[in-house]
Amino acid sequence: MPCPPANSKRASFVAGERVSVMLPLPLGGAYDYRVPAGLTLAAGDFVTVPLASRQVNGVVWGAGEGQVAAPKIKDVATLLDAPPLPETSRRFVEWVARYTVCSPGAVLRMAMSVPAALHPPRPVTAYALAETVPEVRLTPARRRVIGVLSDGPARPATELAREAGVGSSVVRDLARAGVLVARSLSPGATAAAPDWRCPGPTLSADQATAARALENHVAADAFAVTLLDGVPGSGKTEVYFEAVAETLKRGRQVLVMLPEIALGAQWMDRFRARFGGSPAEWHSDLSQAQRRVTWRAVAEGRARIVVGARSALFLPFPDLGLIVIDEEHDAAFKQDEGVAYNARDMAVVRARLGDIPLVLASATPSLETIENARSGRYGTLHLPDRHAGASLPDVALVDMRSDGPPAGRWLSATLVSAIQKSLEAGEQTMLFLNRRGYAPLTLCRVCGHRIQCPRCTAWLVEHRHVERLQCHHCGYQARLPRICPSCAAEDTLAACGPGVERVAEEVGERFPDARQAIAASDTLTGPRAAAELIRSIEERRVDILIGTQIIAKGYHFPMLTLVGVVDADLGLAGGDLRAAERTYQLLYQVAGRAGRAERPGRVLVQTYMPESAVMRTLLSGERQRFLDAEAKDRRDAGMPPFGRLAAIVVSGRDEGAVDEAARALGRAAPRANGIQVLGPAPAPLALLRGRHRRRLLLKAGREINVQAALRSWLAAARVPRSVRVRVDVDPYSFL
Ligand SMILES: [Zn+2]
Ligand SMILES: [Zn+2]
Repeated sequence: MPCPPANSKRASFVAGERVSVMLPLPLGGAYDYRVPAGLTLAAGDFVTVPLASRQVNGVVWGAGEGQVAAPKIKDVATLLDAPPLPETSRRFVEWVARYTVCSPGAVLRMAMSVPAALHPPRPVTAYALAETVPEVRLTPARRRVIGVLSDGPARPATELAREAGVGSSVVRDLARAGVLVARSLSPGATAAAPDWRCPGPTLSADQATAARALENHVAADAFAVTLLDGVPGSGKTEVYFEAVAETLKRGRQVLVMLPEIALGAQWMDRFRARFGGSPAEWHSDLSQAQRRVTWRAVAEGRARIVVGARSALFLPFPDLGLIVIDEEHDAAFKQDEGVAYNARDMAVVRARLGDIPLVLASATPSLETIENARSGRYGTLHLPDRHAGASLPDVALVDMRSDGPPAGRWLSATLVSAIQKSLEAGEQTMLFLNRRGYAPLTLCRVCGHRIQCPRCTAWLVEHRHVERLQCHHCGYQARLPRICPSCAAEDTLAACGPGVERVAEEVGERFPDARQAIAASDTLTGPRAAAELIRSIEERRVDILIGTQIIAKGYHFPMLTLVGVVDADLGLAGGDLRAAERTYQLLYQVAGRAGRAERPGRVLVQTYMPESAVMRTLLSGERQRFLDAEAKDRRDAGMPPFGRLAAIVVSGRDEGAVDEAARALGRAAPRANGIQVLGPAPAPLALLRGRHRRRLLLKAGREINVQAALRSWLAAARVPRSVRVRVDVDPYSFL
């Protein structure tokens, strides 16, 4: 693919000329408009144009294409006061649209997700604590507001109310009482900016070698992808921080992507310790006002470093000099809704378009990345040793077939006695179970009826804490009935299987004096709750932590020496292409939580499949053997990364129409050499949020242009408007 021209000279269009304007809507392409008198436009300019009876924002994409007849052409309404969308960003939008078989407008919508940022910001009123606080009655809500302000800068009223979890009237009342004072805040004024001049830590010899290599890529100012491969605790973050510093030193922007950004409190601490300031953040927990400030700061080049979730890749960086993806193997980088893209793969494209280096960091790289490294497309840097001499934890399997607990219990005798020892030593334990709630299934003991979501092909999960049955796919909730909905027997409904709440119940019964905490996405309601939990573990106010994958990654607790995996086989069910790989990655990450400081760690893995490749690898630590076996299986089956996959999901409320559309697609399926189409078949989630779903799967050799095949396929099948057809190139979810 040719590199785009430099962004310096933009062709301009004067009054009377035609320009094509891309709108952030799922349309076929750009539309022509005329430049009105008194305006000169250039490619990348944000403008407002009339569309039917509306005014919509869009981007000048280039010269008009002449598809609108002269008498019908409309004038551009206004030029918006925002920095233009850079050339690289525009080419990126086009590239992602081509690759994902989506309209460029749908991709552009991700790049202009904050319409308010297209207008220059007005000064905002922020609130701070008064110097002398008058005597007022302090309700718990008021205390929370004061608590938020006591360890942070002045904030706008809505943000303050949100962070404190109170209504905005609480903030207003405190201001009226003189406890808070209003200040005019210049927009975009944030905390201290990161400074590359801050002295870095002393690196080990291996770390220093890797850091120099990455710095050289930054200095070379060219496209290069490097896999930074190292065990947990080997200091990958410190190494890529040196590349970040080098990029900042050159005055360019940096993007770091993390999978669980909301929970990256420890990462943020390390960043601040290294750079003396905070990066701009971009993730779903931000308020609209924060998004507006950050988007604008990135577009104007003021935000030099952004740490964000996958959508940060679409921010309008004018001078991006480096991208880092931490935990590159994480499935959270894949978006399944709307434009289905993998931010890790698209970051490679973004780096190539911008001619900049990309760093992929992981302790358990994906098979895709390993294969790219093996073939020489990516460079590799290994960090072999744990920093500061900590040893890797000692892993043992508990064979649940012979050594499992009695029915209704989930912790084996081996695990229980290990927890007891850890408690006696004053150390911490983490019990890992990747399932929220109390029990995944509620069953009638008399008739065998299973309580299902009325809108999805899924069992309802009991959350005893909030006394609700919940659907984890659509959010449907119901009270647990006393009478079986099928046979009307009373009090016969029984919980089957464990979730973290049920494990917590067993821990409470077995260790009544231990202090326990649950960490799951529904118990940690936001970044503050997560940060508070992390602090309580660090300060040893928790003895036993019970959690889902939300706590599997990145954290470092010196006193946590025992990790118990309650059900290691959970991720292996379901026949997902990456089931074994993902289970290995997840369990390896979980095991890495044990004993990361001077104290050696121990990991007990409860499994019914001790002879499976995943469990054997965990035990022996022979990662390469596992990867070789996994690669051979995939190569033999023609599966990614050795073949290509694309899924088509057909959905709608009318089951007959969905079936008919799916069959029409099946009949129109491409019949070329090297292409195989499976389906249509009911999706495993055949009903989701009340919509019926059918799937087709296109499987092709690496040499096949899958996008071209998909485009002509979709064009050949007639699908009624009531049925939605979604394309997912390189799918991660097969539900
Ligand atoms: Zn549901
Ligand atoms: Zn029943």
